[in-house]
Amino acid sequence: MASGRRQKTIVVGAGPVGALAALYAAGRGNDVEVYELRGDLRDSSTVPLNFTKSINLALSERGINSMRKANAPGLLDAVLNDTIPMHGRMIHGKKHGKLFEEAQLYDAQGRFIRAADRAGLNKRLLDELNSMPNVKFFFHHKLVGADFKRNLAWFEVRSSSNSKETKEIEVSFDFLIGADGAHSAVRYHLMKYTRMSYHQEYIDTLWCEFHIPPLAPSDPNYSKYDGFALSPNHLHIWPGGSFMFIAIPSLDKSFTCTLFLPESRFSELDADHGALVPFFEKNFPGVVPDLISDSNLRTQYRENPHLPLISIKCSPYHYSSSAVILGDAAHAMVPFYGQGMNAGLEDVRVLYDVLDEHSVSSRASPEEVTVARGEALAAYSKTRHEDAATINDLALRNYEEMRDKVRSPVYLFRKMIEEKLSVWFPGVGIKTQYSRISFGNERYSDVRRAVSWQGKVLLGMINVVAIGGIASVALSMRIWLGGHPVRTSVGRDIKWLGAWIASTGDAIGRR
Ligand code: FAD
Repeated sequence: MASGRRQKTIVVGAGPVGALAALYAAGRGNDVEVYELRGDLRDSSTVPLNFTKSINLALSERGINSMRKANAPGLLDAVLNDTIPMHGRMIHGKKHGKLFEEAQLYDAQGRFIRAADRAGLNKRLLDELNSMPNVKFFFHHKLVGADFKRNLAWFEVRSSSNSKETKEIEVSFDFLIGADGAHSAVRYHLMKYTRMSYHQEYIDTLWCEFHIPPLAPSDPNYSKYDGFALSPNHLHIWPGGSFMFIAIPSLDKSFTCTLFLPESRFSELDADHGALVPFFEKNFPGVVPDLISDSNLRTQYRENPHLPLISIKCSPYHYSSSAVILGDAAHAMVPFYGQGMNAGLEDVRVLYDVLDEHSVSSRASPEEVTVARGEALAAYSKTRHEDAATINDLALRNYEEMRDKVRSPVYLFRKMIEEKLSVWFPGVGIKTQYSRISFGNERYSDVRRAVSWQGKVLLGMINVVAIGGIASVALSMRIWLGGHPVRTSVGRDIKWLGAWIASTGDAIGRR
């Protein structure tokens, strides 16, 4: 989007999505101002919003690709250097009184996701912005109002996080990007200007963070995983049916763990503190006391907050040519596909692809620039909403898969078939849904369509194989029985078997 006058883009929120959006805008020559409610994350006294500590995230292709396209040499390498590859899930359980671990690869072709420290990644992006002469930061600035017709925004300013004194300032802009998280103030004000449909849902699950420390060098198991208490190259899951416990590796050889549990179960454990350790022993075998001591578990449960999980859908994301919301502000999702931040970073890439497609010449008037941006934002809202709504739904459904289905033979069967087909016939385009979401950049809505088509093809193949098998068994029986009256009951059994195969195939097709 070019014009004689430099465009002024203001970004509200300096989380990962806002920071990347600022990089894209600055890379296109805009004057960029970043306004952030909290202090500078790189200052050790600043506590990240909504998080007790720095949490670990699964970073995958969409997030990586969006940073790759930021045109910031060295950024991606610096980010990836601080990540740990996770090649698959490690499922933990107990069988016949013995602990077991079962590795499930994420991808038949060996691709992997990466454990990243959210705060570390955010800091890298802020450092990159610091080096750009056309970017200015405004920390301790909270957006409190906006007029998207006059392109004005108001911020409450504090001198520090603890300061009680505030003043209000007015800021003008050409374009405002709202990346201020799930409880977005930009979205709230945008709703007054555009007929935004809005849906939010708190799921009946809370999360609480725990920490598995690194092993001491004197520990007899120290050398097994170089000081990590578990394999560092897996995302560890203790499935519990209606709840689960997961662990993600950190660079300091510890694991950041999350307990996802229905609110009522949290209340039960709150009411009876003595029940916590037995609950872990029963449901998450091997965690206590091997990985976390009893007293540590109790302390962490008591001190770390039990936080809600929100899922938000809204549309449109923009107003005219003045403003757009990205990331959690537009589509906060539950964390079970590991896509919240990845999808938010992808928003930035997709938005700027659309803006570039609608760009006008450097001699265009400010009015022409505004009209072109308005058209681009309308196109962005329309296409991106379908994709964001899709990944929101898939994230909700993946909770069931992680906490339960990972143990189901039907789930494992379909995964195995799809992986084998993707390796044997790479040209046919059969891939698991997980691979398409985590290792590609296909639109989320296209992934859903492709997976649904694939399910039908697999169902057809199963039916053909099964019916062929049944028919040959029936034929052999008929020849063998030679017209004996038993053949009617054999016929009934074959019919029943056919119906069972169809229903199993249908169940497979749905996942
Ligand atoms: P945020 O990170 O929320 O940043 C918003 C910023 O805006 C903040 O810095 C805030 O201070 C600022 N702000 C807020 N209000 C104002 C205001 N009025 N004025 C100015 N500034 C303001 N995602 C993944 O991709 N992979 C994962 O594995 C993953 N795991 C997760 C696990 C858990 C338990 C949770 C809760 C989330 C997980 N996510 C994951 C999701 C991910 O954390 C979010 O999607 C991501 O942080 C969103 O980034 P954002 O920049 O849009 O918003």
